[in-house]
Amino acid sequence: MRGRKRSYYVETLGSPVLKKISEPVETVDEKIRELAALMIESMVKFNGVGLAAPQIGRNLRMVALGIPADSISEEPSAGELALLPAMPLVVLNPEIVELSEEKVCREEGCLSVPGVWAEVERPRKVIFRAVLLDGSSIEYECDGLLARCLQHELDHLDGLTFVDRLSRENLAKVEVKVKNLRREGGRSNYRRVL
Ligand code: ZN
Repeated sequence: MRGRKRSYYVETLGSPVLKKISEPVETVDEKIRELAALMIESMVKFNGVGLAAPQIGRNLRMVALGIPADSISEEPSAGELALLPAMPLVVLNPEIVELSEEKVCREEGCLSVPGVWAEVERPRKVIFRAVLLDGSSIEYECDGLLARCLQHELDHLDGLTFVDRLSRENLAKVEVKVKNLRREGGRSNYRRVL
């Protein structure tokens, strides 16, 4: 495959695939492993810290995670300690089984919403459960950027982006950019290509 140039893309805001509820992964077969590899490659090419399958046009409950090891919390949660060193990795059928009452505001962006960053309020910690490609199940308490990223990526599996989570005030700050992005997306078939 040396020398072969492959192009990568992500779906952008306005693409119908980003609005759908994704289906669970039933069996881990070669196709799922290939999709997982493509998700990781795409995430790396676009410099993302996470990528959900709908972002590359597949409505399956799969998320790639690639959080840099140095963004671990000062007092790391079990999830950060276990998962950050294993990244990049793909999780299947991920679920958030509990959200903390404590909420935090943090700036978010999204590969599918290029050029837009905004403060989003979300629960600070989550209890997260998923299956890995080798079939093993995991469940961890997660804090920090990992907890944030999981909530953001899992929203994609339910047809939501961070723009849907903005307060009225924060939405107003980015509304024009978001509208332009949707309009421009229509001209490029809602795809960013690299
Ligand atoms: Zn996103």
